[in-house]
Amino acid sequence: MPAQLLEGKIIAAEIKDKLKQEIASLGKKPVLASIIVGENAGAESYCKSQAKTAEGLGIEYRLERLSADTTQASLVDFIKKLNNDNSVNGIIIQMPLPKQIDYKSISSFIAPDKDIEGMHPQNLGKVLMGKAKIAPCTASAAFALIEATGVNLYGKEVVIVGHSEIVGKPLSLLLLEKFATVTVCHIGTSDAGKLVDHVKKAEILVVAVGKAGLIKGEWIKESAIVIDVGINRINDKIVGDVEFEEAAERAAYITPVPGGVGPLTVTMLMRNLVEAAKIQQR
Ligand code: NAD
Repeated sequence: MPAQLLEGKIIAAEIKDKLKQEIASLGKKPVLASIIVGENAGAESYCKSQAKTAEGLGIEYRLERLSADTTQASLVDFIKKLNNDNSVNGIIIQMPLPKQIDYKSISSFIAPDKDIEGMHPQNLGKVLMGKAKIAPCTASAAFALIEATGVNLYGKEVVIVGHSEIVGKPLSLLLLEKFATVTVCHIGTSDAGKLVDHVKKAEILVVAVGKAGLIKGEWIKESAIVIDVGINRINDKIVGDVEFEEAAERAAYITPVPGGVGPLTVTMLMRNLVEAAKIQQR
């Protein structure tokens, strides 16, 4: 395998070292409030991993459990209570949410300076303006992995497959800010039969779709940087969206799945929390 592995936990460890120093200079333990509505195994496992990372950094992780029949109005009231609670520095709402809750609009009720997922329209607007202090965690994780290669993004041909609000759209803006040439592909690109042509041109390829084997190894440009955000469970094994072995033969750098973007995403959440605490202190 000629490609060098881009391991999230190595970059995460460097970021965590810096965060520990910043937390010490805050003079108080930052507090993360995590809201979980109803019961969901996936959400429980995210909470566990977040709580562990928080503990390692000296962050208080407050789990707030609400019942599965919580209405949109009572969830909004609960968020407002946390917005006004000076002891809370950051708020995260675990997905999935029950059907009666409009998950797309709920982030807009979190105070922008406590929105550590970076999904409040005001924070997304700052990403658009190139002034982001708090950006969506998965997009920031993919961006940090690209930067870890030391690549100069100026004029680079970047192809992102997937245009979600949490990954593709904000990442395209972060990369544009560095003067990369960014192409964003999605289901329409595939349906038009044009995905392969775009992927073949990518000096940097980011894939965030959720379909195992979508990106064939032979499509990867020689010496490309490949960031695979996808998570797919196949026969109890976790794999990404890119054919890993074949792609690794051609790429210069590639993220493993699991172990690439995932471990860094939770670190980015903590980085946003520390940023939020600093903004609140000001
Ligand atoms: P989403 O469902 O919101 O968006 C999927 C995107 O893929 C859309 O842009 C859609 O148009 C595109 N798409 C679907 N089929 C396609 C096809 N055949 N060809 C090209 N594009 C296609 O997804 P999301 O929430 O952004 O998540 C994407 C993947 O990333 C999932 O596997 C998810 O589990 C994973 N993910 C990982 C992390 C992490 O920390 N590692 C975090 C978030 C999401």
